[in-house]
Amino acid sequence: MMELPRKILIGDDVINNIGEFLLDLNHDASKIAIVTGLTVQAKAGKQCRASIDKSSLDNSWHIVTDASMDAVNNLQIHLEKYSPDFIVGLGGGRSVDVAKMAAFGLSKCFVSVPTSASHDGIASPFVSIKGLDRPHSIKANSPIGVLADTRLISQAPTRLLASGCGDLVAKITAVKDWELARDEKNEYFGTYAAHLACMSAEIILKQSHKFRDNTIFGTRTIIEALISAGVAACIAGSSRPCSGSEHLFSHALEYIAGNSCGLHGERVGLGTIIMAKLHNLDWKQIAKTLKEIGAPTTAQEININERDAVKALLLAQSLRPERYTILKKVSLDEQSALRLLKDTAIL
Ligand SMILES: [Zn+2]
Repeated sequence: MMELPRKILIGDDVINNIGEFLLDLNHDASKIAIVTGLTVQAKAGKQCRASIDKSSLDNSWHIVTDASMDAVNNLQIHLEKYSPDFIVGLGGGRSVDVAKMAAFGLSKCFVSVPTSASHDGIASPFVSIKGLDRPHSIKANSPIGVLADTRLISQAPTRLLASGCGDLVAKITAVKDWELARDEKNEYFGTYAAHLACMSAEIILKQSHKFRDNTIFGTRTIIEALISAGVAACIAGSSRPCSGSEHLFSHALEYIAGNSCGLHGERVGLGTIIMAKLHNLDWKQIAKTLKEIGAPTTAQEININERDAVKALLLAQSLRPERYTILKKVSLDEQSALRLLKDTAIL
């Protein structure tokens, strides 16, 4: 079964139309819950509330400070009685993830309103929540609507946009891993979903040189590509087209070094360079693209030392045993892991 967003609205100042957008999704809607962070509320809350009030939708606002299971549970307790028609995630990663997970738990419709373009979770059914028994993302419901205000997103720190590019180039190695699983393990492979995911990575590789001088163009391209990648995951019904060995490396880094090792897309970008080399792909072009955008290409830039980088690469091999990737085919020991990290200039 495929679950896709029904409406996607992208453009400058579309946040002022959020009320209409929600009513368009469900004409009978009367109550909505908005999940956001303090910074985003201060920046976009007023415009958002004005539009929602104009549409006569009753609204209840909830602030989240972390993407933990506690935050999800708390929100669910608060929202159970209120019973909103939609749960809207307004913000970056945290608010979107917590809102998506709470909506899933309460069987409510989820609407995604990203205010930064830092990862592909803004349009996919997948969430990363701390406090679960596994480090990787889990499947919830796809958003039924996505509203992306490009002006708002272009005002977010450029580091977030660069991180989004890391999560996009990742589709190159994710799809290669998926092909490998098809060829060697007879795993189901969705050609359309794979092409869609690859396309969002290729757009970034081809256009990245324009992003620094033209932030609006960059923002729009990156947000569209992230939404397409999220939709590819919706179509595949799995995270396969978006997440492979490069994500395993990122999860392993997070497991070893905690929160101090960069953003999701930054870690994933490094992972993509490494796994591209293992796949015999043009890893130098990927590294060049990331550099151009201002995303990190070395372990040092995300505060990872040599010992932890090697440890993460070795650990990545054993994470998610059910997911066949290049890391299961090429087995690395301490020496070969170190060599690989040096060859790709990660160390
Ligand atoms: Zn990702």
